[in-house]
Amino acid sequence: MSVKKIIIIGSGAAGLTSAVYAARANLNPLVIDGSLPGGQLTTTTDVENFPGFPEGVMGPELMERMRKQAERFGTEFLFGQVESCDFSGEIKKIKVNGKELQAHAVIIGTGASPKLLGLEEEKKLMGRGVSTCATCDGAFFRDANLLVVGGGDSAMEESTFLTKFAKKVTLVHRRDEFRASKIMQERTLKNPKIEVLWNTNLIAIDDLQAGKVTQAHLQNTQTGEKSSLEVEGIFIAIGHIPNSQAFQGQIDTDDNGYILVKQGTHTSSPGVFAAGDCVDHVYRQAITAAGMGCMAALDAERYLTAKGIE
Ligand code: NAP
Repeated sequence: MSVKKIIIIGSGAAGLTSAVYAARANLNPLVIDGSLPGGQLTTTTDVENFPGFPEGVMGPELMERMRKQAERFGTEFLFGQVESCDFSGEIKKIKVNGKELQAHAVIIGTGASPKLLGLEEEKKLMGRGVSTCATCDGAFFRDANLLVVGGGDSAMEESTFLTKFAKKVTLVHRRDEFRASKIMQERTLKNPKIEVLWNTNLIAIDDLQAGKVTQAHLQNTQTGEKSSLEVEGIFIAIGHIPNSQAFQGQIDTDDNGYILVKQGTHTSSPGVFAAGDCVDHVYRQAITAAGMGCMAALDAERYLTAKGIE
């Protein structure tokens, strides 16, 4: 088996940008797609803040364009997920689809996945009325009453998007102020189809027996008062968990699993670099992930040059 110069794990904004740079540097990168090819941007609608698109661009289209750009310079893609890896030696070993791949350098751009509340019903009713992706599932809920949980930009975006289909969207937030950006808050609060329930938690969901969502059980965090609401769909939009599980024990992470980097994008294992939402819990934007992807490719290129691999 030949040893690749570089393997890039993940095909979101970070992974694909690093692929464009690595491919243009003649490093013949192999990108391992991961469970969501194109990453989180494929589950969003309008992206209005990616420079170069004054009219905005749809998330999936932006990712398709990045992929084509990486392909244009010779990037190869492999559909699959990393099962395990061994970064201890000079040659990095990565197991994908039951097969071992080897590379001189690795860039990790595996992103982050949506967080859940931890309710038993949430998992059991996932795809049966419970969702973490309005763009993916919103159209199934025409004229329905829906509930969204969260107070960040994701919750604002999901609620606003869902009003395209829903009769009414109730947005439930555990505090009395949103964390979201001002512009997204304003859009949400002035939408006549959205009602906000402040200081409220979702504590249970009916109906497990029927295998669908019929009712949301809520509790006021200040008074403890309980109430229920008839809804057909529940969208959880409460943040994300970094996808770093496959690398545990191989590279250092913080307590929340975010990969720790130093001097740009170097992880604790020489020759392994990381970029994007699996590292960054502060900025978490497509453009910052893309920027870090670029940095990782440049760092990897310098590492390989110093090793005499060109
Ligand atoms: P976030 O900013 O971390 O917000 C998560 C929200 O969920 C917070 O309001 C939090 O409440 C709430 N929450 C967390 N755990 C909870 C729990 N167990 N029970 C109830 N509520 C819970 O996450 P995000 O909204 O996904 O945004 C992440 C990043 O992506 C941000 O930087 C955001 O700006 C960006 N983003 C941008 C866009 C856009 O520009 N189009 C769209 C989406 C996301 P507290 O406020 O009480 O902590």
